[in-house]
Amino acid sequence: MDTRTVVIVGSSVGGVRTAKALRSQGFTGRVILIGDEAHLPYDKPPLSKQLLAGTWDQSRVTMLTAEDAKEADIELQLGSAAERLDLAERVVILSGGTRVAYDVLVIATGAAARPSPWSVNSGIHVVRTLDDTRDLARALAAVGPVVVVGGGFIGAEVAATARAAGRDVTIVDPLAAPIGRLVGHELGTILASVHARHGVRTRFGVGVESIEGCEGELTVTLTNGETLPAATVVVGIGAIPNDGWLASSGLLIDDGVVCDEFCRTVEHPNVYAVGDVARWRHPVHQEDVRAEHWTNAAEQSACVAHNICHPGELRAYAPTEYVWSDQYDWKIQIAGRPNRAVLQRIIGDVDHDPAQAAAVYGDRDGVLRGAVTVNWPKALMICRRMIGAGATVTDCLAELEGLPRLAAVNTAGR
Ligand SMILES: Cc1cc2nc3c(=O)[nH]c(=O)nc-3n(C[C@H](O)[C@H](O)[C@H](O)COP(=O)(O)OP(=O)(O)OC[C@H]3O[C@@H](n4cnc5c(N)ncnc54)[C@H](O)[C@@H]3O)c2cc1C
Repeated sequence: MDTRTVVIVGSSVGGVRTAKALRSQGFTGRVILIGDEAHLPYDKPPLSKQLLAGTWDQSRVTMLTAEDAKEADIELQLGSAAERLDLAERVVILSGGTRVAYDVLVIATGAAARPSPWSVNSGIHVVRTLDDTRDLARALAAVGPVVVVGGGFIGAEVAATARAAGRDVTIVDPLAAPIGRLVGHELGTILASVHARHGVRTRFGVGVESIEGCEGELTVTLTNGETLPAATVVVGIGAIPNDGWLASSGLLIDDGVVCDEFCRTVEHPNVYAVGDVARWRHPVHQEDVRAEHWTNAAEQSACVAHNICHPGELRAYAPTEYVWSDQYDWKIQIAGRPNRAVLQRIIGDVDHDPAQAAAVYGDRDGVLRGAVTVNWPKALMICRRMIGAGATVTDCLAELEGLPRLAAVNTAGR
């Protein structure tokens, strides 16, 4: 019988998955899940996709209902922000002054949208929370052009969703191929071109100088002097870890909560971090890593729950990176670290409609280090498994070549 109390701060995928994994791994002590938002815990990826498009409602993104929580004996404390952590007393202090005592603490406070550096009274949006998406969906229901600042995943997804809703959309990013940061320039350029095919204008390689006006009548001035009229502007320029509430705690913070390979904070083995807020020592890469991807938060939670339940059999967290993005009719999936390797070959056809392709990346010794696929989940699964196993590029290509012929798949899919 375990009588410890585990307090989890942050109630999205990292927090909810940790709470559920504790129970599924047999933890019998108290589990308290604290979240600053009043909404039931919800999932983030659909916020820029189905929820923004209006094809899903809130119930489809809810990750834990009050009934689920009761059944799993998870004590939900929503609408309460953690304001401070007292490590000596082992308490989390909430807004309003409530003190919540813990034996084990899991920090799962994620990240916030990097705020817009351009301030106007109305009309500029970010997308990180359910309320953000609702506000933006209302704005997109009106007429007028939309300018999206930032061509990374979230900006690209918002642009695709707004375009599908019939809006006139322009994306601006100072990089020539924004997703090139993750996949390298060559494939980044291909991915960048998908916007044009869907009638979204791009201003890549140019920044934003200023934004003026108000909702419905904004003017975005670019660094090359061009001006873009906009009814709505969406700023998707990255995220910042929610670690400010820990500033006075004494925990080591460095763009996230610094952890060892077991996801325990430095010098405080009863305090863990998971998800977007965690910067842990990756035992294979031998460097401190912080990931802002859904699968990382989910897999790290399972590892942390194991380590809490089995302190004598700690598991190092050594994932093979994985992230996906849905843009237009492209499901883009990335495994491993393509940006740290060299593109070896692209199998398939990105010009075909629908596109289906796999790009494979290796190091100078021919070891497989990364892969990017478009509309080809089976290929991605194979690549991710082979990256984790340390396979060669040659072996991976041989497996991919053995998959059903792409042309046949494409034809059958029509
Ligand atoms: C619009 C959008 C689309 C995305 N699409 C994809 C995708 O397609 N594929 C993919 O792999 N990833 C995607 N992601 C990223 C993925 O959703 C995140 O990596 C994941 O949500 C991280 O989970 P988390 O629990 O660590 O943090 P978060 O989801 O950020 O959740 C943290 C929670 O903690 C709460 N919190 C913060 N501070 C406090 C405090 N002081 N006290 C109490 N509670 C607090 C927050 O309100 C939030 O509920 C997307 C993210 C966004 C925003």
